[in-house]
Parts: sequence; C-alpha cells; structure tokens
Amino acid sequence: MNRSAAPAGDVERLRTILEGQRAAYRRDPMPTAAHRRAQLGRLATAIKAAAPAIAHAISADFGNRAPQETLLAEVFTSLEAIRYTARHLARWAKPERRPVSLWHRPGYARLHRQPLGVVGIVVPWNYPLYLAAGPLVSALAAGNRVMIKLSEAAPRFGEEFAQLIADTFAADEVAAVTGGVEIAEAFVRLPFDHLLFTGSTRVGREVMRGAADNLTPVTLELGGKSPAIVCHDFPIELAARRVLYGKCANAGQTCVAPDYALVPADRVGAFLVAAARAVQGFFPSLRASAYTSIASDRHYARLAGYLEDAARLGARLHPLHPEPSDPAARKLAPTALTDVDLGMRVMQEEIFGPLLPIVPYERLADAIGFVNARPRPLALYAFSDDRSSVDRILHGTMSGGVTVNDTMLHVAQDALPFGGVGPSGMGVYHGREGFDAFSKLRGVYYQRRLNGLALLQPPYGTRFGRLIGLMLR
Ligand code: NAD
Repeated sequence: MNRSAAPAGDVERLRTILEGQRAAYRRDPMPTAAHRRAQLGRLATAIKAAAPAIAHAISADFGNRAPQETLLAEVFTSLEAIRYTARHLARWAKPERRPVSLWHRPGYARLHRQPLGVVGIVVPWNYPLYLAAGPLVSALAAGNRVMIKLSEAAPRFGEEFAQLIADTFAADEVAAVTGGVEIAEAFVRLPFDHLLFTGSTRVGREVMRGAADNLTPVTLELGGKSPAIVCHDFPIELAARRVLYGKCANAGQTCVAPDYALVPADRVGAFLVAAARAVQGFFPSLRASAYTSIASDRHYARLAGYLEDAARLGARLHPLHPEPSDPAARKLAPTALTDVDLGMRVMQEEIFGPLLPIVPYERLADAIGFVNARPRPLALYAFSDDRSSVDRILHGTMSGGVTVNDTMLHVAQDALPFGGVGPSGMGVYHGREGFDAFSKLRGVYYQRRLNGLALLQPPYGTRFGRLIGLMLR
C-alpha cells in the first residue's frame, strides 16, 4: 500500500515516551502488588467518572450508538476486569512452588512472574474503551509500563481517552497516543517488550512483520467468521433471539458477533420468523438511538455491496425489520440471507455488520464439517440442551472461544482466557492468562549449601558408576 511514513518528529516523540518508560521500568522493575492495585483503582475511578463523556464520544464517532450499549459492553466489562484482576493479582504475582525431582533435592524450584518492561497496545475502533482497558488492566497487573495507540477511526473517543490517561497516569507509567495509520505503523515497529494488537487479520500480518525486526513477541487479537450452530433439539425461537441479539449488538460490528448461522434445514422458515420477531422486539424503530449506526461510509458501502453481490448471485434477502435502511444515518436494516453459496462475498469475508447468512444442514456432522472446512474462527456458538451434541461440536471443531446456548458471553468471563487461534489470532489475555501474557515466566532453582551434586562430579570413579546406574534405572 502506498502510504507516507510518519513524520520523523512524531516517531521521535514515540521513541521518547518509550525511553522514558524504559528508564522508569529500570528504576522500579518489580512494582509491589499494592502499587499495581492502586494503579487499577485510579483507572477504575477515571473510567467511572468519564463514562458519560466516553459514551457520548463513541456515539459521535459511530454516528450513533446507544449510551446503554457502551455502559454495558465497555464500561461495565472494563470495571469488572479491573475488579477481578485487582482481587487476584497479589496471588498471581507470588512466586509459585514447583516440584523438583529426587536427584535435585534438597534444592527447590520456584516460578517467578516478572514484569516484561514496556508493553505496546494497538486498539481498534469497534469497542475502543474495552479493547484499550482490557489489555491495559492485564499489563498493569503484571507490573509493566504501557503505551497505547488509539484508533484513528474513533477520533473523539481517542481524544477523550488520551486525556483520561494523561490525567490519571504519569507518562512513564501509561501513555496513550492518537494519530493515523502511519503512526500505527511506526508504533508497532518500536522495540516493545511485548505488543498486543487487536484488529483485522490482514493488518495483524503487517503488525507481526513490523514486530519481527525487534523480535517483539506479539499477541494478535484478530477476527474471522464465527459460526452459530443451532441443533435440532434447541427451541428455535430462543436460538433466533439469542443469535440476533449477538448479531445486532453494535450493529454486528463485534469481533465475536455470530457471523453466520447453521440451522437444521427443516427449521429455517421458523428461524426466519423468530429472527424478525426478535429484531423488532429489540428495536421497535431502527431510527431510534438503541440501534447503532455503521461506523463509516466505507463500511456501510462494503456491507451494502455484500447484499448486492449476494442478491446478484441468487441469494434471497429477508429484511428482519419493516423499516428500510437509512444510508444517510448509516443505519443498515438487519437482514438474513438464505440460498447463499460460497462464492458470495458475504460467505467469504468477515461480515462485521447486521447481515446474517443462514446455512441449512441435515446432520450435525455436516454442520461440523462446514465449520472445519473454513479458517479457524474467533468464536463458536453451539445451541443445544443435549450434552452429547454439545460435546460433539466442542470436540469436533476449533475456535478461539465458545459460548454454549448464547453468544459473546465467554468474552466477559474474567476467569477465562480470551484469544483466537490460527487466522483469528495468537496468544490469550484476560484474567490469570492475561497476567501471564505480560509477564516473563522465569524459572528459578535454588541450590542448597549441602547437596549431592558433588557425588556426580569428576573425577569419575566407582561412586559415579554406582550412582548413575541407579539414576538410569
Ligand atoms: P484494523 O485492523 O483496520 O485496525 C486496527 C488498528 O490497527 C487501528 O488502530 C489502526 O490504527 C491500526 N493499523 C492499521 N493499519 C496498520 C498497519 N499497517 N500497521 C500497524 N497498525 C495498523 O481493524 P478495525 O477495522 O479497527 O477493527 C475491525 C477488525 O478487528 C475486525 O476484523 C474484528 O474482527 C477485529 N477485532 C478483533 C477483536 C478481538 O478481540 N479479537 C476485537 C475487536 C475487533
């Protein structure tokens, strides 16, 4: 892509922040648990105080997003992550006892978790608060300094959050920067001790290439086409309602939104009726503020293009709401698609919008086979009350995470790791695993003054022979 490089002055500014943070890390490489908890406390207080302004900024960036949605999906989730992490981090930070074999006793072993140093975080626009705060919480809990690059596609939020960070932390603790893609490119090339990127699979590849020169380890939180498999036994009304809630939250602009639904062929008609009922129940009017706008004209055109392409290639479109789409307000009416085939763009690319292709299947093995024939998704949703069907799906497929009998909720479980697999990402964060992601897991063996090692050291004589004989038994 032809893009101008970031101005030298901007790159210099990023380097200066990084050097300041690295120097601060060297001065205090192992902050106490109390210090880390206090940092999280400050963050929680700041987010709570700024919540209305943040919701307002995000709504302005999108064109419209209900403040209720921001409070639930971003503010609440961020505060929960802080609470959970603050409660557990002292225990996570403690050296952990590890066993040693008979031959190494009476020495003993501990696993130390040490702050890596300076962590970089790159944030997308779709949940700009939670996807900045979530990784930040893990990185601070693990005792690091943090630089955050906010998305140019959510500029009002970016200004608001950069100010919140500047008011809450010293620049050598946490710094948030704004700026265009050229700044993002320069950012991911900084010699961080770890880099967490959330965004598309395409950009994820570039980020990993950028980080490779410094051998900076990366956690990549990417996207993909997350399927929902509805089994024969599950009440179709409930399945449709839950799938459509996941599809319409943030107007489908959610990394873990169900992308398409696999529905038993003889239930597709009932699913469509229930889906329309669900959507009209959630949003009596699409014009009202509860229904989120598509965040940019480019994405609106992309989604409208999927519909045109699918219709041209023979798909049937089922508007799920009587009101038409409103391009000026970028409100795209939720629409289901049937008779889709794999040549359609809507079945090839991550949808990231309120369009739901429905793929009929006969036997559960066919549905599992359909999922396995495509790249490993970020999330998978299984709807069944039959344990053996759920187990068949869980054991027979692979995805970043799973919610059974609903959508998206595994992400909000602070005690579960979150992250994709293959093209949907690498590495995990949240909770304990997030703490580990930003820690050096350092093995430490403590030798005792008195130990048996001398018996095995040269010169090798009969004593060695007898002992090694025992050891090799
Ligand atoms: P994106 O990949 O276009 O951009 C993400 C960020 O990367 C932006 O902040 C941007 O500044 C930066 N960026 C862009 N080009 C870059 C480059 N060449 N080098 C370095 N940085 C660059 O993604 P988006 O449109 O903001 O978000 C949508 C995508 O993110 C979807 O694919 C979605 O599934 C995915 N996503 C994943 C998760 C997750 O947790 N796994 C969460 C939200 C979104």
